[in-house]
Amino acid sequence: MAGTKCNSCGAVHFPPRADCDQCMSSDVEWVDRESKGKIVTYTTIHAGPTGFEDVVPYTICVVELEGGGRLLGWLDEAQEEDIDIGQDVDIGLKELEGDRVIYAVRL
Ligand SMILES: [Zn+2]
Repeated sequence: MAGTKCNSCGAVHFPPRADCDQCMSSDVEWVDRESKGKIVTYTTIHAGPTGFEDVVPYTICVVELEGGGRLLGWLDEAQEEDIDIGQDVDIGLKELEGDRVIYAVRL
């Protein structure tokens, strides 16, 4: 996973930013980010939005990344009873039909 780092103040961003939200500098560079974090919250979707009707039910979650930043990902192959708030997770990518790519979160 890639984020950006501000060369002016050192702030690290995920998702990547063209301008620093701390000092407004545009002097940023790409940096590798840990693909690990902790679950902040989650929910299971039973009525999918347009384009996702064929994959319900699925569970999505917000993950607080190590080093800062959050992302919305899919809990891949997990049952709700196995999920805890604050649980450590790994994050990868998963391709869906139709050239869609999601963040796949694994317990
Ligand atoms: Zn900055």
